Amino acid sequence: PLVTDTPLPLSELCASINDRVTTFLELPDPSPRIKAVQEQTRIALGVISDALDRYSLKEVSLAYNGGKDCLVLLVLYHCALHRKGLTTKSTSTDTHEPIQSVYIQSEHPFEEVEEFVALSVKQYSLSLLKYPPPMKAAFANYLHDQPQVKAIFVGTRRTDPHGEHLKHFDPTDHGWPTFVRIHPVIDWHYVDIWTFIRHINIPYCVLYDRGYTSLGGTTDTHPNPALARQISTSEVPTLDSSNGGAVNGSRPVKFRPAYELVDDYEERLGRDR
Ligand code: ATP
Repeated sequence: PLVTDTPLPLSELCASINDRVTTFLELPDPSPRIKAVQEQTRIALGVISDALDRYSLKEVSLAYNGGKDCLVLLVLYHCALHRKGLTTKSTSTDTHEPIQSVYIQSEHPFEEVEEFVALSVKQYSLSLLKYPPPMKAAFANYLHDQPQVKAIFVGTRRTDPHGEHLKHFDPTDHGWPTFVRIHPVIDWHYVDIWTFIRHINIPYCVLYDRGYTSLGGTTDTHPNPALARQISTSEVPTLDSSNGGAVNGSRPVKFRPAYELVDDYEERLGRDR
């Protein structure tokens, strides 16, 4: 398993992830759905590989908030590090370059998200710096603290707000601090993300199993109403918030897991903004 009490050394973790990704890419007789995700996986690995040719490991970072899209990106990044032979120990210091990452913590974070981010730091060897919002100031502060960072991997997809016109490599604009945003998963659809996560079989934030499809803070994020289902009376006694239960007026509802949603445009129905 990828998650163990004693995290794997980076080189072993990257090799193990590469094995899983390779197995996924070589699945025999793939359905059209799997084929599409295999193709997106190859494209994303190509973009990351290209980025690692353009920038040194010190110059790149990853915007990571424990969400599903940056989780896929994180895994593909590890795979690409292995494929490019960048996970072997440096002979002079006998240490790895850390996997630099930046997290802008919500003002009202979910405990479950914080726990998943902490688990990710441990399991994926992240060197993660946390900043308070707003985003623009947070990135300015991050680049002030890490002035060698020139490019940041971001898990934005085409159907996200402001994702429509993005390319794989985009310099920031509109008065944002200067860096290049790298978008390896820009053309992945919502279902592609879940197809990949479930095939590679990696842990993800528990909120997704409770009907949340996109994660923000506790004050602006709810389970996605498109995943609500009314429960039968026999389920009522076992219903609580840990299994996605909620009481909507007097009618108890339960939410199906995030991976059962299919429509890109329904993804943010659980977000207030
Ligand atoms: P989800 O939509 O399920 O929350 P996600 O957080 O990965 O998944 P988005 O919310 O669409 O995806 O955000 C797109 C990308 O922007 C993320 O994948 C991540 O790279 C970056 N990002 C967004 N919010 C933050 C944040 N608070 N801190 C660091 N990076 C962030």
